[in-house]
Amino acid sequence: MKITIFGTGYVGLVTGTCLADVGHDVVCMDVDAAKVARLEAGEIPIYEPGLETLVRHNMEEGRLRFTTDAEAAVRFGTLQFIAVGTPPDEDGSADLQYVLAVAETIGRHMTDEVVVVDKSTVPVGTADRVRDTIARVLDERGESLAFEVCSNPEFLKEGNAIEDFTQGARIIVGTESEWVKGLMRECYGPYIRLQEKLMFMDVRAAELTKYAANAMLATKISFMNEIANLAERLGADVEQVRRGIGSDPRIGYHFIYPGCGYGGSCFPKDVQALARTAGDVDYSADLLQAVEAVNQRQKQTLFAKLSRAFDGQLAGRTIALWGLSFKPNTDDMRDAPSRTLMEALWAAGARVRAYDPEAMDECRRIYGERDDLVLVADRQQAVAGADALVICTEWKVFRTVDFAWLKDELAMPVIVDGRNLFDPATVQGHGLMYFAVGRGNSL
Ligand code: NAD
Repeated sequence: MKITIFGTGYVGLVTGTCLADVGHDVVCMDVDAAKVARLEAGEIPIYEPGLETLVRHNMEEGRLRFTTDAEAAVRFGTLQFIAVGTPPDEDGSADLQYVLAVAETIGRHMTDEVVVVDKSTVPVGTADRVRDTIARVLDERGESLAFEVCSNPEFLKEGNAIEDFTQGARIIVGTESEWVKGLMRECYGPYIRLQEKLMFMDVRAAELTKYAANAMLATKISFMNEIANLAERLGADVEQVRRGIGSDPRIGYHFIYPGCGYGGSCFPKDVQALARTAGDVDYSADLLQAVEAVNQRQKQTLFAKLSRAFDGQLAGRTIALWGLSFKPNTDDMRDAPSRTLMEALWAAGARVRAYDPEAMDECRRIYGERDDLVLVADRQQAVAGADALVICTEWKVFRTVDFAWLKDELAMPVIVDGRNLFDPATVQGHGLMYFAVGRGNSL
């Protein structure tokens, strides 16, 4: 099949590459000329395990191309995927300007019938707006070409994107059209061994499914963080509580890890956008608002714990940070808890020595050169001469630590662990003060 993808970010690039890998002919279009130039040179602008090899292979095979030429891109594909960003607007609602700009582009350049596939996460009713935009532009051109707009939300996770795309639990397609259903079956056919994996539903249900899924996952995290905060104050160990409740099959073990709050490009913006959508239809989404509020508070706990450990005297201190990305196996720092912490530390007059296996360039891009931020080449250098260590991201490499060495390196024997990586008794046995999340101490 001939497929066009608009947007070569995490979702567009993974979608285009994986579809090329099963034999489709794919053109990926982006307005960011620098990004396209890097991609054409076989360079991947993001860190995503396995993606570079797959991109290069499919480029060599001639099935995957990159372009900034919108007209050529529109004329190429029978399926036109929209995978551009939908960042939060000032009021928290999803900003649809990029999605609607692609709709304009498609309307302006299409010369044949196409199916527009909305993969970006967009509020309920967006497919109608995309359809109206294309129809208006066609009308302005005096053309009457057939087209359909369907919703095909993406559920991949950064860091595991290829596996999620190729072996995800479900592929959701919102459409009433038999023509579209046939094309989407053909598009995803190579990935479908179980028929029920491809779920057709109406467009609005598909659009809402994406938000509902992310809101549910965010709710689990905020719920667990709430229990952790209670456990801390009640002298209970939330890790034991987690195991205790996870064993109930109605609850399960997935996604109930307490921590320093969720971040990334999806959960924060999607929870807020869904709450805004609720407001638009005069419904007060109290639960969603609470999920967001708990998360905001949780992202401040690392700083609060440090501050208490140092009696509020953080000015002039050097704090080592392990982990900058919002989760392991990605370089994405959008809304990462590490950012909340670093910004609070700087405001308090402290310095940061940070290490992350993949997000150092991204950190430099966001914060530039500053005296109170030193990015170092490994985790050892981060703690050298630091007053305390904070763990923000649960990268595998941080899971094994020589605590005796750490005790010698740190000026003050303080570890604040935002990911509950260690057994408190073991760490404390080495003479370190260990402050994790919800593990029975009151810091
Ligand atoms: P991203 O910011 O990484 O990439 C978006 C890309 O779109 C950028 O390269 C940008 O230059 C390009 N773009 C903007 N306007 C364009 C236009 N008019 N034509 C062509 N390209 C254009 O975004 P992302 O993380 O890939 O997310 C894309 C969408 O998918 C969002 O709606 C997001 O919520 C959703 N989503 C993201 C994830 C994730 O893990 N990142 C997972 C599921 C769904």
